[in-house]
Amino acid sequence: MMGQQLGSQDRLFYSFNLEAHVPADHLLRGINRFLDLSELRQRLAPFYSHTGRPSIDPELMIRMLMVGYCLGIRSERRLCEEVHLNLAYRWFCRLGLEDAVPDHSTFSKNRHGRFRESEAFRHVFETVLQRCMAEGLVGGEGFAVDASVVRADASRAHRVSGEEFPYGDLDPEHGTRAVREYLEALDEAGEMSARKSVSLTDPAASWTAAPGGPAFFAYSTNYLVDVKAGIVLDVEATAAHRTKELDATKKMIERVEERFDVKPKHLIGDMAYGAAPLLGWLVEKKQIEPHVPVWDKAERQDGTLSRRDFNFDAENDRYTCPAGRHLHTTGRPTADGTILYRSKNLECASCPLKPQCCPNTPQRKISRSIHEASRDVARTLANTETYRQSRRDRKKVEMLFAHLKRILKLDRLRLRGRTGAQDEFLLAATAQNLRRMAKWLVPKAPNLDLAPA
Ligand code: SF4
Repeated sequence: MMGQQLGSQDRLFYSFNLEAHVPADHLLRGINRFLDLSELRQRLAPFYSHTGRPSIDPELMIRMLMVGYCLGIRSERRLCEEVHLNLAYRWFCRLGLEDAVPDHSTFSKNRHGRFRESEAFRHVFETVLQRCMAEGLVGGEGFAVDASVVRADASRAHRVSGEEFPYGDLDPEHGTRAVREYLEALDEAGEMSARKSVSLTDPAASWTAAPGGPAFFAYSTNYLVDVKAGIVLDVEATAAHRTKELDATKKMIERVEERFDVKPKHLIGDMAYGAAPLLGWLVEKKQIEPHVPVWDKAERQDGTLSRRDFNFDAENDRYTCPAGRHLHTTGRPTADGTILYRSKNLECASCPLKPQCCPNTPQRKISRSIHEASRDVARTLANTETYRQSRRDRKKVEMLFAHLKRILKLDRLRLRGRTGAQDEFLLAATAQNLRRMAKWLVPKAPNLDLAPA
């Protein structure tokens, strides 16, 4: 006999335990175990008024955002719908079955106001990082650095050249938040930018050429990662430019040292981080071994003698050429931090090696970075077994970026401006660290406490 569903949905009273309906191995159970927001209210208290209607609980909003970033729910409107309907999400957010879910507009108001002023997202990121350290997931020996380009929420069509950008015509009171931020940053820097392409909706985004596709507006997310378990130690949003990424590397290393008193023994990076000033900073100032390929443009490709054919005499501060002549310097570095060594015109004019040395100039010049000693340290390290292991460890950062874009779906930003990008990157990195702890530590935990803390 064909059965027919008889249940009706108009019952008024249920005996329902939300906890019992969340699977024991649900990802959010593991994340809940490691997310401690007990200090958040205290941090945010000065940013709330003592009078008026009570606000939405900030811990609820952070928990909802964590659900969104951990599970790749990119739209806040959709996040609110999902939390409303999904029992596990309700349990994680500590909402009862009948509790109301905040409106999506609440997130925007708080993000631009209290959360940003109080640096709430950085506080949450650092709290989670501290827990990673307490759980023994941070080795503190080898850090890896890398950057990945993420599309900005800015259309290619709404762009003008730097000269055409209406800096003066934009009313700072009524322009969009991203435009106001950009103009304020320009005021602080005291300069007007002469860029090739500037977005009218998010002027701080960089116009970036992508291999095999049309250029687009983007930001870079910079990660500093401990290679023991691939934990993100710091994250910084920058324009998608190599120089900004190098600046971000210094900033992140110093910030981690200042906040957590952790400094790596070696730093792993690709050739983009092999520029002389960064190597000099690592070796001379921070005493960190650079496990980075040296950025070297001295090798000649036209068959003429390269710099390595000349011997440097540190004691006399001069080079000796293959003909046994000396190249001297004034010792004054150029603006980009290189010192030039020159041969004598008279000696070169009569030299039989001139066609292979300087066929088109009367003398030979050799440039040497003021950080050449640090570059030599990096070259020497490149022949060690630890360095070869570091090359393999570097893949951990690449995997985090792949995870960020494919699983957490952060291949395009939703928020505009550099601070919007910073907020998104911080929340995503927090989600990655929480997921790492939940996946690595929960199955091994002896007394798993399934109840919300
Ligand atoms: S051309 Fe000048 S610098 Fe080059 S090998 Fe001859 S003497 Fe030396």
